[in-house]
Amino acid sequence: ATPMSIMTATGRGAQAGVLIKNAEALERFEKVDTLIVDKTGTLTMGQPRLVAVLPEAGHEEEEVLRLAATLEKGSEHPLAEAIVAGADERGVALAKASDFQAITGKGVTGVVDGYTVALGNHRLVKDLGLDAGDLIETANSRRDDGETVMFVVVDNALAGLVAVSDPVKETTPDALEALHKLGFRIIMATGDNERTARAVATKLGIDEIRADVLPEDKAAIIKDLQGQGKKVAMAGDGVNDAPALAQADVGVAMGTGADVAIESAGITLVQGNLDGIVRARRLSRATMRNIR
Ligand code: ADP
Ligand code: MG
Repeated sequence: ATPMSIMTATGRGAQAGVLIKNAEALERFEKVDTLIVDKTGTLTMGQPRLVAVLPEAGHEEEEVLRLAATLEKGSEHPLAEAIVAGADERGVALAKASDFQAITGKGVTGVVDGYTVALGNHRLVKDLGLDAGDLIETANSRRDDGETVMFVVVDNALAGLVAVSDPVKETTPDALEALHKLGFRIIMATGDNERTARAVATKLGIDEIRADVLPEDKAAIIKDLQGQGKKVAMAGDGVNDAPALAQADVGVAMGTGADVAIESAGITLVQGNLDGIVRARRLSRATMRNIR
């Protein structure tokens, strides 16, 4: 494309809150056929709220929440913030944790009040050599409503679960409809559980998902699609998404997301909603048409 037509397109994009980094991003975007979207913070608001604390027999709701929230004070994960805020709202006073450890894609562990506490997903439970037992039914019914469920383990026994809900952004359904109409194949990728991912995807009319994905696997999924000759754009917001945004033919960052995500992307959507992709596609088509 000519420098002039590219300047016009990037200028128009910027006015609409679609920041296009360079000519390459604009040119490549026209060829994109596959769109990978992160769930949390991209399709959803990214502001999860604690909706339930369900103790196992022999445990108190307040105790389970206190141990969980105390541990999560050491984590910057959005799920952690939801649990800490939930404890605060319920007037639960927190203790102090020691030996805190974050396990990427799984959860957190540490010592609270002399108890060894772990909090996270089924992978973490499995790593501890435990089985979710009859908690799995409750977990599944919550997941089928689109909630994210985390297990609380105290001294190597299941003490309960906490459930968090992250509503879909108001703008997401219309944006996805427009993107489908443009002919994109849309795949949701998430570190969240398969059932939770499926519930959210079904509600949004997305029929392809990759769930239980470890952060480093998002980039591998994209590489794989590229190996099949696909031209892939990836939309994400998290620190975890940065390698995938860099691997994609075009990375699309939510302006509301992490700085490293924005740095790794060719396009940034200032308002943080996927409508911007529709506009980016139109601009890229118009620019490329101009020069042919
Ligand atoms: P994503 O950002 O796509 O949800 P992550 O890899 O950050 O993916 O997290 C995957 C899963 O690991 C979460 O859904 C949760 O079950 C668990 N997890 C990660 N971090 C934490 C944490 N701080 N506390 C509890 N669970 C966590
Ligand atoms: Mg995210």
